[in-house]
Amino acid sequence: MLVQVALPVPLYRVFDYRLPADTSALPNAISTRMPQIGTRVEVSFGRQTLIGIVVAHLSEADSSVPLNKLKPINKCLDADPILDDSMLTLANWLARYYHYPLGDVLAVILPSLVRQGKPLDLLITHWRILPHITDDDFHANAKKQKQQFDMLKLHGERGASEDVLLLEGMQRSFLKTLEEKGLIERYIESKQAPSPVKLAKMPLDLNTEQQLAVDAIIAAHEAQRYEGFLLNGITGSGKTEVYLQAMQTVLEAGKQVLILVPEIGLTPQTRARFASRFAAHIVLLHSGMNNTHRLQGWQDCRTGHAQIIIGTRSAVLYPFANLGLIVVDEAHDGSYKQQDTLRYHAADVALYRGLQHHIPVVLGTATPSLEHLKLVDDDKLSEYQLLTRPGNAKPAPMQLIDARLQSTHQQSTDDGERYDTGLTDTLIGAIRQTLEAGDQVLIFLNRRGYAPVLLCKACGWQADCPRCDAHLTVHYASQAQQNAYSSHSYLKCHHCDWQAYIPTVCPDCGSQNLDAKGMGTTRLSENLHAIFANPQTSKVLYPIIQIDRDTTRLKDSWEKIYQRINEGKPAILVGTQMVAKGHHFPNVTLVCLPNADRGFLSADFRSPEHTAQLMIQVAGRAGRGDKAGRVLIQTLQPDNELLLKLVKGGYLSFARELLQERKMMGLPPHSYAALIRCEGKTMAATTQALKDAIALLPSNHNLAVLGPIDAPMSKKNSRYHAQLLLLAKDRRQLHHVLSQWWQPVQTLPSAKYLKLTLDVDPVGW
Ligand code: ADP
Ligand code: ZN
Ligand code: ZN
Repeated sequence: MLVQVALPVPLYRVFDYRLPADTSALPNAISTRMPQIGTRVEVSFGRQTLIGIVVAHLSEADSSVPLNKLKPINKCLDADPILDDSMLTLANWLARYYHYPLGDVLAVILPSLVRQGKPLDLLITHWRILPHITDDDFHANAKKQKQQFDMLKLHGERGASEDVLLLEGMQRSFLKTLEEKGLIERYIESKQAPSPVKLAKMPLDLNTEQQLAVDAIIAAHEAQRYEGFLLNGITGSGKTEVYLQAMQTVLEAGKQVLILVPEIGLTPQTRARFASRFAAHIVLLHSGMNNTHRLQGWQDCRTGHAQIIIGTRSAVLYPFANLGLIVVDEAHDGSYKQQDTLRYHAADVALYRGLQHHIPVVLGTATPSLEHLKLVDDDKLSEYQLLTRPGNAKPAPMQLIDARLQSTHQQSTDDGERYDTGLTDTLIGAIRQTLEAGDQVLIFLNRRGYAPVLLCKACGWQADCPRCDAHLTVHYASQAQQNAYSSHSYLKCHHCDWQAYIPTVCPDCGSQNLDAKGMGTTRLSENLHAIFANPQTSKVLYPIIQIDRDTTRLKDSWEKIYQRINEGKPAILVGTQMVAKGHHFPNVTLVCLPNADRGFLSADFRSPEHTAQLMIQVAGRAGRGDKAGRVLIQTLQPDNELLLKLVKGGYLSFARELLQERKMMGLPPHSYAALIRCEGKTMAATTQALKDAIALLPSNHNLAVLGPIDAPMSKKNSRYHAQLLLLAKDRRQLHHVLSQWWQPVQTLPSAKYLKLTLDVDPVGW
């Protein structure tokens, strides 16, 4: 009697262990004699002690290792499986599909405390307000106590866990004080079955398009059958209402609903949208959780305690007691693809899990990826379109401004020096008009910092990152913003975070004529300040709110910005792609894209698709309230066919055309790709390893082999990257080759001190 154990080691195999002669040494295994499949065991592996998962039982005769060579397991950590059959099947599928070792797949799936062998039922202290306590129980002078009390009050009668409260800024000492005064109490949340989900608010009356989609999703749910849906609805068409009403039926049947959101979309608003409709146990899963919380979330999903689970990418790998529906919101979003270790795509995994659990999976988006459109063409997804906005709101029309016909607006500094604002007078006029009408303007510029390049005007020197193939971005906080967040100026690499002082003279020629070239959000905000300031007082007439990773880095800063915007006063918002997703700014009626169409010129064949998605998402922020909106695109290439197609025909006709192009060129999704990357200390070594890899391909492989070539950013963080692309007409053909070839490649002598990675279905190369 042996067990087969998957261990977190980078080897494509599992390992056989025997039971110790005296099984009473295995306290948890006494009742069953054998550790069950799906439980954790501790074993010796070489000189290490590792924790692994039992994946099979086998007889001595089936092991390739003679019994006297086998080591016994040291310890059983669980009496009952922590991973059920469906999770093990999922892990095996991931290992096969992404050609990744099973033990490593399990290491990705399991929360780190579980991997470390901690017991699953951690006891987490919660705090709640005692039922009879009201605001009147406070003395007028206990202001600080009252303030902390109010923070707890926001969490309702169940209160919240101590970690969450501390994270929100409560102080442990105050929790103690309030407890001593008999105002609040601590408790351990009991893990009984949650009460049935109740509606907290009435659903809206659906329009016909929404109703058709909801009916179809519910029909699949009721028939307990898998069906993948593409809910293709323009921004503001009410996709969320479709999710909510489909969810209602599923939740009322006692099943769990998993909602995936992009990395950036997990704002408190996301939770509020669901919490205001359902009285349910909602669990949020995201990358900012600490280990204890991750484990608790994992347990809540696994035991069925969590009823609505809202999470980013990795939530799709959680175990669920009785999953009934998966929603992937903004399914086209790039953050669903994991870019290291196990390079999975959460939307693909969601579809697999739907199939596994016989449940519907809804991919919702205003800008479907070409992959998903192809799945519709292949009858693998059912498409439901929402082409109108409920009520009177009309989608904002898009209009081009030809920046070749008029030069951009010039402004003068105090010293009389003139500089270019990057905005045409037409654009500035439209912004002014909108502000004067009392509305808000959103200007999209997908580049943070002050300027992308620091240039010497005398000799042409540019400030480059010493570790990457990249320019250093100039970060320079303008006067107006210095107090708000960062207070100094510096050069920074956006790829490896290298930082340096801004030189006062050119290091090559000594000239003082250094110039920040190009425009980032900080510079644009500064230019807008100059344009819209009162000329007498140079005080700005409208707030200019910059929204990017730099201004939202601090805790709660996004919240504060959001509140300021939603006060509704006229303002100019300047934002990077952070503003593109999901946010609802009801007073924005004008969206400006001063140079968003640059991506149509990129060498990456995926760039037009991603550029268009971003442009449409940003444009969708206009006119979401009662007022009509409009979108102005300032461009230097007004005859660009792709741009015209997008503006005139809309995203779908644009995407259909791209898909046709991909078909003609044999590119994904009309072919299937695997990207092999090699990283090392020299370019020669990385390229050689890939050449050796090509030599190992079976002679009849029938794939297109592109490379080895330098990766797009061939030097990054002082390491060199080369890559190799395999393209196949047929998915099975690709996987057939990979399954024979990829493991031997990793043991190539030339790859010894290099890092080799495989990306199946890469989203960029
Ligand atoms: P999407 O997610 O498709 O961009 P939302 O779900 O945010 O759009 O919906 C946009 C707005 O329309 C929301 O304010 C929502 O409450 C409203 N809405 C959605 N469906 C309906 C409906 N059937 N009747 C009235 N208002 C609706
Ligand atoms: Zn110089
Ligand atoms: Zn760098």
